[in-house]
Parts: sequence; C-alpha cells; structure tokens
Amino acid sequence: MAYQTINPTTGEQVESFESWNAVQLDTALSQVSDATPAWAATPLEQRCVLLQRLAEVLRAQKESLAQLMTLEMGKLINESRAEVEKCALGCEYYAEQAPVFLADDIVATDAGKSLVAYQPLGTVLAVMPWNFPLWQVFRFIAPTLAAGNTGLLKHASNVPQCALAIERLVREAGVPEGVFRSLMVDARDVADVIADPRVHAVTLTGSEPAGRSVAAAAGRYLKKSVLELGGADAFVVLEDADLDLAVPQAVASRFLNVGQSCIAAKRFIVLETIADEFVTRFAAAAGALRPGDPRDENTTLAPMARTDLRDELHDQVRASVQAGAKVVIGGEPVDGPGAFYPATILDQVMPGMVAYEQELFGPVASVIRVADEAQALAVVNASRFGLGGSVWTRDSARGERFARQMQCGSAFVNGMVKSDPRLPFGGVKASGYGRELSHHGLREFVNVKTLWIK
Ligand code: NAP
Repeated sequence: MAYQTINPTTGEQVESFESWNAVQLDTALSQVSDATPAWAATPLEQRCVLLQRLAEVLRAQKESLAQLMTLEMGKLINESRAEVEKCALGCEYYAEQAPVFLADDIVATDAGKSLVAYQPLGTVLAVMPWNFPLWQVFRFIAPTLAAGNTGLLKHASNVPQCALAIERLVREAGVPEGVFRSLMVDARDVADVIADPRVHAVTLTGSEPAGRSVAAAAGRYLKKSVLELGGADAFVVLEDADLDLAVPQAVASRFLNVGQSCIAAKRFIVLETIADEFVTRFAAAAGALRPGDPRDENTTLAPMARTDLRDELHDQVRASVQAGAKVVIGGEPVDGPGAFYPATILDQVMPGMVAYEQELFGPVASVIRVADEAQALAVVNASRFGLGGSVWTRDSARGERFARQMQCGSAFVNGMVKSDPRLPFGGVKASGYGRELSHHGLREFVNVKTLWIK
C-alpha cells in the first residue's frame, strides 16, 4: 500500500489507500486537460473571487484540517492551526495581487504599441513533501490558479488524507471540476506524468535525489521546472550579537516543526569569543523543550513524521559524534512508541563530519566555532546548499554587508528565516532553482509574451 496514514505519535497505521493504476491516472489527466481552456478563459476577477472563497473554506475548516495534519505527520496542534491560517492568507494575497502581477507591461519601442502580456502555460504538476502538508501545496495552488493554469498534485505518500482534503477544499470553494486534482500515484510514476503532453510544467519541493530525477524528466521533455530542495541554513552569531534576541530565535528556527523545515537554521556558526555563552544559553532553552502528544497544547516538541526519518537522523548524529562532535544535550532516541527524538545540540562540529556536510532534517543543531567574521562567511558559503541564512549582530549595517555576501536565496539580519507571500522564496546551488511566492513565483509558470503592434 503506497499511501498510508501512520500516526507518528503512536506508530499505528490509521488508513491506507491503493495507488492509482494507469487508467485512473489517464482519466484524471484528461479531465484536467479538458478543463484547462475554459479556466484560462475565465476572467481573472472571477478566478480571484474563487481564491477568496478558498480562504474562507480553509478558515471554516481550520480545526479539522489542523487535526488531520497533526494525525498524519505529527505537527504540534498550534503549529497546524497556524499553517491553515497561513494558507488562507496566501490565497487572499494572490486574490488581491494577481491583477497587479498579471497586468500588461507597456514598453515604449519603435512600435505603435508594444507590451508584455502574462498568459497561462496550461497544466502544472506539483510534487510536494509532507513537512508542511497544506502550506507547501497552497503556496502552489494560489498563484497557479490565479494565473489561469490548472494544477495537479502528487503529494507525499505519508499524507494521503491531506492530499484528498486539499482537492475537496478547492471543489468546495466553487472552483470548476478538473481545475485541480490530487493524483494518488507513486513517486516512480512522476516521470511519466511529466512526459505526458497534457502536462506543461512541473514544480517539486523535496529532497535533492527527487529534484535530480524531476529535473531530468523535465529536461528530457523540455518542460519548465522549478525545484525547491534541501538546505543547511547558517545562523551566524557575530561577537556583538544580542543574545537575548538571538537565543530564543535560534530555538524557534531550529526546533519549529521538530526541525523538519527546509529553512530551519541547521548550522550555528558562532564566533569563538561568544561561543561558550551562546551554547550554554541555547542548550538551556532547547533542553526545556518537552516531547509529547502533539495534540496536547502544552507539548513543545512533537514527534518526527516517520520512524525511518528519525532513525536516519540518529545515524547522522552517531557518525558525527564518532568523528569528534560533542553532544551538549540529547543525542539518544526517546524510549517508547512513536518517532520521537530529543532536542539535540552538537558542538565542535568540523569540516568532514556528517553534521557539517549534510542536511540534518530534524531536531539537531550543529555548532561550528569560528575565529572571526571572515571565517564565518567562508563557512557559510562552503555549503553545497544555498537556501536561506541569518546573521545576528547589534550593527545592522554590518549585518546587511554580511547578508549580501551569503550565497543563498534568503538572507535575514536579526530575524529567523521565514517564508512570506510578499517575498520571493527559493534557493541557489543544491537548494534548487526558480522562485515561489511574490510576483516572481506567479511568473514562473506563465508565458511572458511580447506583443508588438505597428
Ligand atoms: P522527498 O523524499 O524528496 O519527497 C518529496 C516528494 O517527492 C514526495 O511527494 C515524494 O513522493 C516525491 N518523490 C520522491 N522521490 C521522487 C522521485 N525520484 N521522483 C519524483 N518524485 C519523488 O523529500 P522528503 O524527505 O519527503 O522531504 C524532505 C526534503 O524536502 C528535505 O531535503 C527538505 O529540505 C526539502 N524541502 C524543501 C523545501 C523548500 O522549499 N526548499 C520545503 C520543504 C522541504 P513519496 O512520498 O511517494 O516518496
């Protein structure tokens, strides 16, 4: 059974779904293909009204959707509720801004009139991960539908009920049948979907191997692709950082969603002169996080989404400790059922160690001590990844100079990296290419068309 709901708190299998066969997939692709011309021809204002309704439907079902996310991937219930709210805000943002982003740009040339028009591409496939099971998908749906494209979703196989709920929500908002479908297909079928002539572009949020495979298929069939992949974001603490500000944000940035976030701070690059104080205070704050039932509002550290991911993380911790990293807190799996792992801090992380070189997708912080600002920047940019990063200093001009030199898609000064519909989101290097959110995200999947009239 490819699609399964397994409660990460208890390890119990709650529900399972058969993956679709070729006939079911073909039927869905035809349905979406048939709906595509009419959706592209629907006035933009009407598409935006439907997005506003989608926001209302999301808010009306906030509690049940939050409970579903927490059941399927273990997120703290308050984080689940906040995620539903963010999806509604994302829909409202594009409902309001799409008319601005899609308006013709008039350009003066030798023509009587020349302009750039933004027209839909057709059908876009989204391959999505489980870590923000609603938000990852809604930040795709809102700009895609606003632009006049139709959408297909291949969601992660451990959140099937979220996948089906999203399809239902879109329908309940009044979006015509076939404009958005959840495809219950296996990962190995994704390349065939990309190859299908009824599909025009693809976006993937996920791991590097999945990114390589999707990019290869998209390249083979010359289809536009956007990749949002992993990250090993730096959290740089300069010697003049305000630790009263930085420490709580370090905890939030590393341990939100139990560390299962692409833009979580993963490498804490700290100047030696302030490192002991930072590590002591960081350990005290992170050590106070308590694992427990994510439905209990008093729990502060949820289980990870799956036991195989927890075991993989623990292997990375063990290998790093064997290579000389020092465990400050945590480092051993929590006894009992469920995919729990404690808040863990590794100090003295050095080049060549797993914790230095790889992404740690869970509640483990790596502290890398450096001599000065120049070495801090060199360590930031030595990473294969380039998604986000932050720098902490009382001197914001110095922070901005540093941030401008960080090789990443989002650099924050005295704030943790977060996504915001108004700002573009995406990475460089092994973190992928292309952007989501803002007008940059919406314009990834449009035909930027020149019109020249004598
Ligand atoms: P994953 O294994 O790559 O899964 C993501 C999605 O891709 C799932 O729907 C999965 O389907 C599918 N998939 C897996 N292998 C595939 C293949 N060869 N071809 C086509 N599709 C494939 O990633 P994950 O472990 O669930 O998610 C964690 C990773 O995602 C981390 O590296 C994280 O940093 C990254 N991430 C990035 C962002 C961003 O915005 N940059 C956001 C969130 C997460 P199945 O579930 O059926 O395997």
